[in-house]
Amino acid sequence: MKLSVTYQDVEAAALRLENKAFRTPVFTSRTADQLSKAHLYFKCENYQHVGAFKFRGAFNAIACLTDEQRKAGVITYSSGNHAQAIAYASQLHQTRALIVMPKDAPQIKMAATKGYGAKIYLYDRYTEDREAIAQQLSHEQGLTLIPPYDHPDVIAGQGTAVKELIEDVGSLDYLFVPLGGGGLLAGSLLSAKHLLPNIKVIGVEPEAGNDGQQSLRKGEIVTIPAPKSIADGAVTTHLGQYNFPIIQKLVDDIITVSDPELISMMHFFAERMKMIVEPTGCLAAAAVMKKTIPIEGKKIGIVLSGGNVDLKQFALWVK
Ligand SMILES: *Cc1c(COP(=O)(O)O)cnc(C)c1O
Repeated sequence: MKLSVTYQDVEAAALRLENKAFRTPVFTSRTADQLSKAHLYFKCENYQHVGAFKFRGAFNAIACLTDEQRKAGVITYSSGNHAQAIAYASQLHQTRALIVMPKDAPQIKMAATKGYGAKIYLYDRYTEDREAIAQQLSHEQGLTLIPPYDHPDVIAGQGTAVKELIEDVGSLDYLFVPLGGGGLLAGSLLSAKHLLPNIKVIGVEPEAGNDGQQSLRKGEIVTIPAPKSIADGAVTTHLGQYNFPIIQKLVDDIITVSDPELISMMHFFAERMKMIVEPTGCLAAAAVMKKTIPIEGKKIGIVLSGGNVDLKQFALWVK
């Protein structure tokens, strides 16, 4: 089957993102290498604009609009990193953004989104459907909907992080990538398997939200009830129509980690590597440290996907 997004789309996205997204650093740690008995390369998207890789997909998707669409503005639904990414990318493109957010979203997230000049539309997540609301507003106001993970231009943009990682460190035996709705994993797979045909790529989900793992096993998109995990960027209920075929065709496996494993990883990053990584950003690293897959002596790429976390909560977790 022909995939809806290809490595050529990732390359085109990389050109659009040049001097717009940060080429984030790749860190290594002697202690992490000793603990894992492998050679680990951390791609630090916690240092990307808005603190997560989501800036890449959001910026690319807005850059791909027609002038007319850009003039009219964009809309999305998210309370997390995608909201801030769309808000900031819209500001850079001088277009307007409307973000559909639950009434009970954290104040800091609302403030950050408003700070980038976006407008917020509040809904009740217990009684209303955010996708339906966004569709309706998009229709009424002529705004283009840019969903968080199930969109070809978003997937292509997310793929640029792993393209950079491989350009910077060369050959890798394994790549571990956090998995929520699947935009990051799909884009990463396009880059990794094109540049290094023999690499093994592993998607990592929170134990409570293993819909991706179930989907891979079953051969079709499985929808689960809203999962509970501290990995708030990966508590999606299902993969997307555009990214699932890519994941199904190219991924080597999907594995899971528990919340306590994420907390111990956050603690390690703060103490040993002086970095704040949010729980979802720790998924891939925690899976490597858990050694579900034998990695001894191997060269491993790990995507640290983001660093946005409430500091009071962070302190409680790592204390
Ligand atoms: C959104 C997000 C993910 C998951 O990305 P998907 O494209 O939804 O799979 C992982 N980590 C962080 C920090 C995120 O914001």
